[in-house]
Amino acid sequence: MNKKMKIIPIFVPHIGCPNDCVFCNQRRITGQKNVVAGKEYVRSIVEEYIKTIDKDTDKEIAFFGGSFTAIDIKVQEELLSVTKHYKDLGLVSRIRCSTRPDAINDEILQLQKRYGMDIIELGIQSLDDEVLKLSNRGHNKGQSLEASRLIKEHGFILGHQIMPGLPGSNREKDIKTCIESIEMKPDMVRIYPTLIINDTRLYDMYEEGLYKPLTLYEAVEISAYIYSLYQVNNINVIRIGLQNTDSINEGEDVKAGPFHPAFRQLVEERIYYTALLSCLSEKNLEGKHIVIHSPDNLISYFAGQNRANINKLKEELSIKQMSFKKKKDDIIEIYHDNKKLSSFHKSEIYQNYLTKQ
Ligand code: SF4
Repeated sequence: MNKKMKIIPIFVPHIGCPNDCVFCNQRRITGQKNVVAGKEYVRSIVEEYIKTIDKDTDKEIAFFGGSFTAIDIKVQEELLSVTKHYKDLGLVSRIRCSTRPDAINDEILQLQKRYGMDIIELGIQSLDDEVLKLSNRGHNKGQSLEASRLIKEHGFILGHQIMPGLPGSNREKDIKTCIESIEMKPDMVRIYPTLIINDTRLYDMYEEGLYKPLTLYEAVEISAYIYSLYQVNNINVIRIGLQNTDSINEGEDVKAGPFHPAFRQLVEERIYYTALLSCLSEKNLEGKHIVIHSPDNLISYFAGQNRANINKLKEELSIKQMSFKKKKDDIIEIYHDNKKLSSFHKSEIYQNYLTKQ
């Protein structure tokens, strides 16, 4: 059985970043406005978390928020010497950071290796050079390909972060980015649909009518497609949508764009709704009672928040009633009057979504 993993987050906002991407205000995204990043800061956070996490739970220290490997080398070594100490003592099992593609080279990766870094997440965001330029990313697609190759070659776990809906992008470009990311074989991915954060150039562009964000519907749709592509390629998507922190909320630091506090749930729901609709739409189910036999952990996705999927299907197909029955294996079966109407394995749900678009 997999042991649980708890994250010890250390935010290193903007100090490592030479850039000014149009969508970024790192201090706000990480919820940390007073930037302090030294040995003591790291030590105190790790100590504080270790006290509260059960000793049998695996712990991972994660440097989030800026471009870790772009920080001055001496500062990196200082911060990493603290985290290495805890890893050497066996008190934490993994160390992770996120960074920019142009802040990766052999020398930097050798340094990370020496200090026990395990996972490097690259903010590739888009693999379209025009989109990267309009977003003022300061790097190009070639650098993302090279950085990904080097990270894997040096034996790290590779993460990709991508951002659908950037300036100059569209559905086709976002999907192409995903396909090219898959070709680089990342071990894990985060999908962050672009939001408009206060005090950013993107906010000004939005105010000036130069940028139109994705609607929530569009963002869910493209994220569902991209997520399904990663799923069918066995790539773990560890996050969809920005974390809901005190300041990342609609009307606070998020000024516009497709923010939802349960964004991933919306994406899963859409995929699962499509799976049910594909099975049921060709049949005459008017006035009937449909029973879905499903693994327990998938029922909330099939049902949707506040039974949104069920209500929609009932209305669209004139079904009288829909209910669930829990089952233990991974085959989903749909019945009416004890007659099986359809069955499919849970792994087919994502492929089905891709073929129905
Ligand atoms: S590279 Fe990262 S930290 Fe730097 S400005 Fe862009 S998004 Fe922000």
